Amino acid sequence: MMPKTILENTSKKNILLVEDEHAIREMMKFAFHNSPFTLLEAEDAEQAQLIILEQAPDLILLDWMLPGMTGIELAQRLKKDEYSKEIPIIMLTARGEEHDRIRGLDSGADDYVTKPFSPKELIARIKAVLRRVSPDVGNVIELGGISMDTAKHRLFVHEQALELGPTEYKLLYFFLTHAERVYNRSQLLDRVWGGGVYIEERTVDVHIRRLRKALSKYQVDHLIQTVRGAGYRFSVE
Ligand code: CA
Repeated sequence: MMPKTILENTSKKNILLVEDEHAIREMMKFAFHNSPFTLLEAEDAEQAQLIILEQAPDLILLDWMLPGMTGIELAQRLKKDEYSKEIPIIMLTARGEEHDRIRGLDSGADDYVTKPFSPKELIARIKAVLRRVSPDVGNVIELGGISMDTAKHRLFVHEQALELGPTEYKLLYFFLTHAERVYNRSQLLDRVWGGGVYIEERTVDVHIRRLRKALSKYQVDHLIQTVRGAGYRFSVE
């Protein structure tokens, strides 16, 4: 058996597919089976918003024509909301006039794919968009003076080595790869500790405090911000 690394939970990206056509959802489920992604599904905008709040996906595949709120309306809403504005969106559109109209619309989508598409092509597009938005290139992540070598499991702040406890390390890894987005306690528990484990939400505060204390040694604790009434955000802006 392969040794289990502590980064396993956070390295698999969650992709949310918002699509009312059952056949397309089934096709994507099949295509995602051996991919580095976990597929989350929603049939409409309402379901999608719940999943986004609960699971904070890394990317959203959004169908244009949905029953009720359209994909464009949902995209515009997501780009306004603090929780979701940094989540990249790939719009799925039908061939024809919609395809042209989407270009002119400032919906906030990062890319769009025209139906019918091949799952292989879509996965390639997902990877391309994620590469563009994620600072995780190779094994070293660098952000805000912090440098994390995930392969060697070493951490440096302004070139000086820093030791962290395993949970603080995982938490910092998650923040470095999900910067500028606000996560509430339950989302952090889910993404950093892993789902299915019952831990009280204030445990998150305890580990945030420890992480800040460690980072304060090199005056970079301000990168972890408390967003009142919402949660935490790692920000270098
Ligand atoms: Ca549709």
